[in-house]
Amino acid sequence: MIKVRNLSKFYGKKLAIDRLNFELKEGEIVGLLGLNGAGKTTTIRILTGYLIATDGICELDGVNTFEHPLDVKRKIGYLPETPPLYPELTVFEYLTFVSRLKQIEENEIPAELERVCSLTDLTDVKNKVIETLSLGFKKRVGIAQAILGNPEIIIMDEPISGLDPKQIVEIRNLIQSLRESHTILLSSHILPEVYKTCNRFLFLHNGRIVYQCDRAELEKEMENLSGLEVTLSGKPKARVEEYLSGIAEKVGATVRFVGEESHGATFLVNTNSERKFKEELFSGISSSGILPEYIRKQDVTLEQIFMNKV
Ligand code: ATP
Repeated sequence: MIKVRNLSKFYGKKLAIDRLNFELKEGEIVGLLGLNGAGKTTTIRILTGYLIATDGICELDGVNTFEHPLDVKRKIGYLPETPPLYPELTVFEYLTFVSRLKQIEENEIPAELERVCSLTDLTDVKNKVIETLSLGFKKRVGIAQAILGNPEIIIMDEPISGLDPKQIVEIRNLIQSLRESHTILLSSHILPEVYKTCNRFLFLHNGRIVYQCDRAELEKEMENLSGLEVTLSGKPKARVEEYLSGIAEKVGATVRFVGEESHGATFLVNTNSERKFKEELFSGISSSGILPEYIRKQDVTLEQIFMNKV
């Protein structure tokens, strides 16, 4: 649906995004991940037509978005990091106002408001003044204005930042329910949350996409990088390491030293056959004078993958 080619943006001399290439396919929830200042907001503002790129092409269903910005705004619902709410209006008044801005036919507005309020669970608060709502509900109102008019694509900048854990779960469920009928791009620096919500991932760092993958690829990468954390006691550490490396070589595993404390030295072992590795480890250990203190499975998180890539 969206194709981005060599997209760059300079603010004066500052290069905020640097030759980005990616696509957004129908029905996906894509997570744009990056630390503060990575270029997420800049990318999103360009995609939604609120900022002009310095270079590159962005196409929405084959149409150049820079040449046809109104088409883009019609097809994309946008939730900025700070939703553009009018706090003195009620939810209903505000959403009516946005419906008119989006040129929804006057006679269709009541049904559209009902649809959107029901989807975002706002029906019970529709007559409340926005400034009296909690942050979670304000985000809901922001999402509601983004989906008014049923745009094909929804783009959300940090939709969960500032929310408490209960609100995060509610907004995550809401985003997932939107997946049925929308393609979604969301940005976030809260990586575990993105992992739970999205099915494709773009890693943005210093304005560049350093890695992109779908969920299956990410899970495979996590599996490859996960391993056994093995703590062995015995002195000196060099002898322990030599012993472990010998076993690893036998079973085709790799060993990386993690750290040493008073109770022993810890290593991360990557192996295709944990069972074989453990059998070898234990079969020779009694005569070696080396003792296993802990062995536990070490799972890799999205943060670790991210830090590996940047
Ligand atoms: P955050 O999560 O902190 O909002 P971000 O990933 O959204 O970060 P951007 O806001 O896109 O990143 O900023 C990318 C880079 O461009 C940063 O170095 C930022 O300081 C710089 N930048 C953003 N807006 C401007 C501007 N109007 N003028 C100059 N530099 C800017």
